[in-house]
Amino acid sequence: MNTHYGIYGGQYVPETLTGALRELEKTYLAAREDLAFRAELNDLLVHYVGRESPLYYAKRLSEHLGGARIFLKREDLNHTGAHKINNTMGQALLAQRMGKKKLIAETGAGMHGVATATVAALFGMECEIFMGSVDVARQAPNVDRMHALGATVRSIDEGGATLKDAMNAALRVWASCSDTTFYLIGTAAGPYPYPMLVKDFQSVIGKETRKQCLEMCGRLPDEVVACVGGGSNAIGMFAGFEDTPEVLRVGVEAGGLGIATGQHAASINGGKVGILHGMKAYFLQDENGQMLDTYSVSAGLDYSGVGPEHCYLADQKLARYVVANDDEAIAAFDALCRYEGIIPALESSHALAYAIREAPKHDKDHIIVVNLSGRGDKDMDNIRKYREVISKRLSKCAST
Ligand SMILES: *Cc1c(COP(=O)(O)O)cnc(C)c1O
Repeated sequence: MNTHYGIYGGQYVPETLTGALRELEKTYLAAREDLAFRAELNDLLVHYVGRESPLYYAKRLSEHLGGARIFLKREDLNHTGAHKINNTMGQALLAQRMGKKKLIAETGAGMHGVATATVAALFGMECEIFMGSVDVARQAPNVDRMHALGATVRSIDEGGATLKDAMNAALRVWASCSDTTFYLIGTAAGPYPYPMLVKDFQSVIGKETRKQCLEMCGRLPDEVVACVGGGSNAIGMFAGFEDTPEVLRVGVEAGGLGIATGQHAASINGGKVGILHGMKAYFLQDENGQMLDTYSVSAGLDYSGVGPEHCYLADQKLARYVVANDDEAIAAFDALCRYEGIIPALESSHALAYAIREAPKHDKDHIIVVNLSGRGDKDMDNIRKYREVISKRLSKCAST
């Protein structure tokens, strides 16, 4: 089995976890070949999640920009409002097969916590979500959703008390209870086999996009674009185009206030190779290798690392990784709301920002597919706060 992507990935865990990871690998490799497993997963994706999600031609936005045609893969229309449920559904079915009674998961913004609590309720499993205390305070609506769905939320105080610390705690606790408990990782990261299986569960995005684009346009897109936090929605989209190098694959990282300010979440464009959370990958670190906290207007891109396959694709130049800053993401958010009547997640708005930047450089024969990873209702509060900060800054400038 391929446990590495070039030098990246691997299984950097204490010995107490290697048994649990081996059991997971074995179960997954068997399930993947099992028609009954695939049929059950597919049935849930159709009838519960609402797949397939549409591919939509954003005509008014494209015509306004006056260049390439922009299409949106509508993962925002899935149950729970994002792509994350594709993965939690798959992993929850694995947990059932393994006879586990309880799911644990890490969460930052809370979206993966909600998607995990959702499948736990669906399958009648116990559920505990690890969340940094800083995130518990600033993501209260998602904490309420998790509670409503019957999950407990364990507030983590160590370190910066955000996502990276929640994941450390979840891995540590899992080592002591893996006989009864399944650890459901939320992105294409962590120790092998997680990056592989999360990618496989998210690859439905890319496979559908490829088929839908052929049906609608009679050919493949020129570019597929997705935002990159830990990298699960991007790797799922990219998976549909692995054998077609003529389709440019673009990952968009969160540039925050700009790479030069150090206030960002761009692990590939602004990080260094390191080892954390069971894998070798790019992480945001200071000159002593100390892991740094992230900054982005979008809470869901706030992971200080990135999945190992993206690190490999970046080094080999098999995919392109660019940055969109807060202000570009907000402008893209506004544009999609006004031109298409679609409120995108701030994470997805980063991918959209790239498309908006690129589209005018091409003509309408050029097709760009943007993965709209989630809907933006959850972000309205953040956006209002962001605008308040900006207008205060502007009025300060005007008065001096
Ligand atoms: C969590 C999240 C992301 C980032 O996670 P990836 O693993 O990089 O896909 C992106 N978009 C939305 C809507 C999310 O909820």
